[in-house]
Amino acid sequence: LMSEQLDKQSAMKLMQRLENDSHDNAKRTLSDNLPEDTLFEVVAAEAEPAVPAGPEHGQLPGQAGIEPSLEYELTRRRIQTNIAEIWNYFSSELGKIRKIVGSGNAELEESIQQVLLQGAEHKRSLLSDMEQLRRLDGYEPWRQREANELSDLVQRRLHHLQNPSDCANARKLVCKLNKGCGYGCQLHHVVYCFIVAYATERTLILKSRGWRYHKGGWEEVFRPVSDSCHDAGSSYAYNWPGKANTQVLVLPIIDSLMPRPPYLPLAVPEDLAPRLKRLHGDPIVWWVGQFLKYLLRPQTATRDFLNSGMRKLGWERPIVGVHVRRTDKVGTEAAFHGIEEYMTHVEDYYRTLEINGSSVVRRIFLASDDARVIEEARKSYPQYQIVGDPEVARMAAVSTRYTDTALNGIILDIHLLSMSDYLVCTFSSQVCRVAYEIMQTMYPDAAYRFKSLDDIYYYGGQNPHNRRAVIAHKPRSHEDLQLKVGDLVSVAGNHWDGNSKGKNTRTNQGGLFPSFKVVDKVETAKLPVYAGV
Ligand code: GDP
Repeated sequence: LMSEQLDKQSAMKLMQRLENDSHDNAKRTLSDNLPEDTLFEVVAAEAEPAVPAGPEHGQLPGQAGIEPSLEYELTRRRIQTNIAEIWNYFSSELGKIRKIVGSGNAELEESIQQVLLQGAEHKRSLLSDMEQLRRLDGYEPWRQREANELSDLVQRRLHHLQNPSDCANARKLVCKLNKGCGYGCQLHHVVYCFIVAYATERTLILKSRGWRYHKGGWEEVFRPVSDSCHDAGSSYAYNWPGKANTQVLVLPIIDSLMPRPPYLPLAVPEDLAPRLKRLHGDPIVWWVGQFLKYLLRPQTATRDFLNSGMRKLGWERPIVGVHVRRTDKVGTEAAFHGIEEYMTHVEDYYRTLEINGSSVVRRIFLASDDARVIEEARKSYPQYQIVGDPEVARMAAVSTRYTDTALNGIILDIHLLSMSDYLVCTFSSQVCRVAYEIMQTMYPDAAYRFKSLDDIYYYGGQNPHNRRAVIAHKPRSHEDLQLKVGDLVSVAGNHWDGNSKGKNTRTNQGGLFPSFKVVDKVETAKLPVYAGV
């Protein structure tokens, strides 16, 4: 943690700036800042109830307008994560014991069941208290303002990069949209190109004619990535990596990129890192979200379609977004998960929301590439309002997936998932990961607003995901990893039973370790700072 401390000088400067900010500015919310053409204005305006100010509402006196320390934010988020982890551990272990006890000992089985029920309630109460702590610790205005400022800064840099004063002579990076995969995967491909463009200070030229989802190309659906600089011109286009003086460079897909630069995900820019580490629970997701925010500015027809889609579906909040990926994914890249697995987590979310006796309408937005999922859920969960369109899911089948109608469907589904209060899905699917990334543009920090049934967050083609041991670990069995404080572990995944899997980079040994014994290492890379923007 010490190494992640903000250096004192920049903290002082920031304090001064915050103090100089006008009172009005301090009251702005994330929504005030979104440009007219963003897809997200509807949700952001109602994303969270306004934070009441002042001691009469339970805030610590004198804290409003003051910024939290990095350590405070890291600790607060660590407690929140580890409340979930300790419960994952106990519920999984008790589940195993219950199985061993079996129906042979009804009394013991019943006791275990009771512990599981009480324990779950206890966990929900703790999570609810953490949420309350965040709202009342006096730092919410700072979080809102910091999120606004950082997002504005990155959006301005992207706008500057994409609109050079002399397009003919500008350095350019050509990216072909048509990677042979689905919409989510293609969006990630474009984001990767855009990150390389940002890092090399080259204007991104997106080639999208003949796009498998819409032959007319990207620009008929979303705003062009540049207002003023649309093609590569007549200079010879060299393949990556080219030379420093190469004017036009063509980028391959991330899977065949050689050599691989250090600024690929999961790295975030070094100049923004101190601010991002304090603001956000998973800076890389925020960083990717900023590229999507710029890219997905809709054309008028797209915006109208989205608005009417929301109206027709009867969009209301609170709502939990559930994405169930089936068809070609199951058995090839991911395991099958029944709807009841998703709904267990939805139920848990609502029970946490209602812990203090309030009651809300149980509502989910259900998106899938298999229409039967929506029909099955409506039958099995009559107590839920299930928002979703089986017709959209039907068009998402592999045979009709690459059509205009299906494109509208996936754009609508992803955006409604991202506008939900919480996501339950499988992060093995790029559809849900994109929704989660976009969600970050609507809150100062939405890193914890998800439950993935399989993978932890990752970015296809990413560099290793390292976590640092903060508590030593002695192997409990031959499956376990030995950890010394300070060891770097390259993580492969979370088993959601209190344990994660990874490789200790010091010993080269692979195995399991308790998830709470490590913290994420935020990777950074030296990138242009766009001085003057
Ligand atoms: P992944 O294969 O799940 O990792 O994600 P991709 O986005 O790369 O490819 C899956 C494609 O299947 C999507 O882009 C859609 O075309 C379709 N699809 C999958 N899930 C859904 C869904 O919930 N709704 C809609 N409309 N389409 C989906």
